[in-house]
Amino acid sequence: MSSTQAPASSQRSPESGATRAATPITVARGDGIGPEIMDATLRILAAAGARLAIEEIEIGEKVYARGNSAGIEPASWESLRRTKVFLKAPITTPQGGGVKSLNVTTRKALGLYANVRPCTAYAPFVQTRHPQMDVVIIRENEEDTYAGIEHQQTDEVVQCLKLISRPGCERIVRYAFEYAVQNGRKKVTCFTKDNIMKLTDGLFHKVFDEIGAEYPQIEKEHWIVDIGAAKLADTPEQFDVVVMPNLYGDILSDVAAQLTGSVGLAGSSNIGSACAMFEAIHGSAPRRAGKNSANPSGLLHGAILMLVHIGQHDIAERVHNAWLRTIEDGVHTDDVYREGSSKQRVGTREFADAVIARLGQEPRQLAPRRYQHSPTRTSQAVRRARAAKQLLGVDVFLHWDEAERDPSVLGRRLEQVVQRLSGLRLKMISNRGVKVYPDGFPETFCTDHWRCRFVSTTAEAPIRFESVLEILGAVDRAGLEVIKTEHLYRFDGVKSYSLGQGE
Ligand code: NAD
Repeated sequence: MSSTQAPASSQRSPESGATRAATPITVARGDGIGPEIMDATLRILAAAGARLAIEEIEIGEKVYARGNSAGIEPASWESLRRTKVFLKAPITTPQGGGVKSLNVTTRKALGLYANVRPCTAYAPFVQTRHPQMDVVIIRENEEDTYAGIEHQQTDEVVQCLKLISRPGCERIVRYAFEYAVQNGRKKVTCFTKDNIMKLTDGLFHKVFDEIGAEYPQIEKEHWIVDIGAAKLADTPEQFDVVVMPNLYGDILSDVAAQLTGSVGLAGSSNIGSACAMFEAIHGSAPRRAGKNSANPSGLLHGAILMLVHIGQHDIAERVHNAWLRTIEDGVHTDDVYREGSSKQRVGTREFADAVIARLGQEPRQLAPRRYQHSPTRTSQAVRRARAAKQLLGVDVFLHWDEAERDPSVLGRRLEQVVQRLSGLRLKMISNRGVKVYPDGFPETFCTDHWRCRFVSTTAEAPIRFESVLEILGAVDRAGLEVIKTEHLYRFDGVKSYSLGQGE
């Protein structure tokens, strides 16, 4: 780890002339175009008078190449945990197994649960089909399929666990409403797929309705993510703040940024209760690296969000308004340059020079930015009392590929197994979620991965855990291969598991 101090660790504020302490931050220059856009960004911040004490760390490709599968050294974690503010350029995640995405690791290890991505159109200066667009995507940042828990279970089937927690939903949904209030926004929209994923996405939607009720001044709406995404792409100006689970947010925030004119324009903040990370939303664009052609605006917008976060609103305003004026003056990098509307095609370095030359100026047509508000409040997870929980049965998953995968053969074998046990019966077998026994359709395609549902012989009655152990032992002794189990519970009187399609 190298440690670089900003030009001065305490500086004069341009407005007041008073000397104010510099805020310690950690900076990583990243991979690909990262070093070029970070250099441009830091030069603009220094020229604007940002009061920063910079510690530099090395992350990404070079660290992975030294055999560190996390892409970050322990000393760098120390810096991040000390400064609690991270300005990060994009990094390249090596393809293939054995290596973890550093972006995902950082977000989760530092508890950065809220990913905020403002996507704004700058028409008529940057070409877009949606000149009125001004959307903020708030993406849950730690859960969902990004928990990264995956297993191969049979020759044919691999699994990724989608984990959604109530505290996770409560924190991100509350953050979205607090953000809306704090930033004078009028509406919060929620996207989920709860018509299909009734428990996981259903919980996210339920929490959205519960917490939304505490904000009567904010308009609320929910869309199923597929039609919601279509509407976002078609008429983004109808949206204001949009909150959603991790995977949908990852995809749709790139779509939203691209709709404004270029993925190179948008910055993002990753916010937690203790730490925060600021970055561009785009990646390391390796093919542009070293060509002085990347747009530094995404990272600069990340840095502006950082300045607001650390309370340097005056500098955030100076930088943002100089940037808007540069864009208005038609000084454009490759990605947004258009013959006719743009005036000067510039490289990364020259773009930074143009912004620096305009520090202290304001845009003439685009609305100037004013940053008065304090950062959005974060909330701690609420711990609840345990619910009354009853075990109603067990799903036993098998790896089975005998008898041409005829479900009735497997069904009869399991009926014989269960006959010898007291108190349990085989309710159904499903394959990839579709019921195939009893009364399955011969047309249903079957893999080698079977879910066998056992419940009490007395309707809806709870079973004992010993019964689960007995059925597992009996299935194993019958020569069938158990690969995993899932318990079927009733929480506070409500059945809390999905039915098989056709069950
Ligand atoms: P990318 O965002 O790097 O590039 C996608 C396209 O957008 C390319 O055509 C690129 O030239 C263009 N582009 C991106 N940023 C630009 C800019 N500032 N100026 C002009 N054009 C720009 O996405 P990718 O190619 O899918 O990913 C490249 C690498 O980046 C991968 O290793 C990926 O894992 C990584 N990545 C990192 C982050 C991060 O560090 N936060 C985020 C996304 C992807």
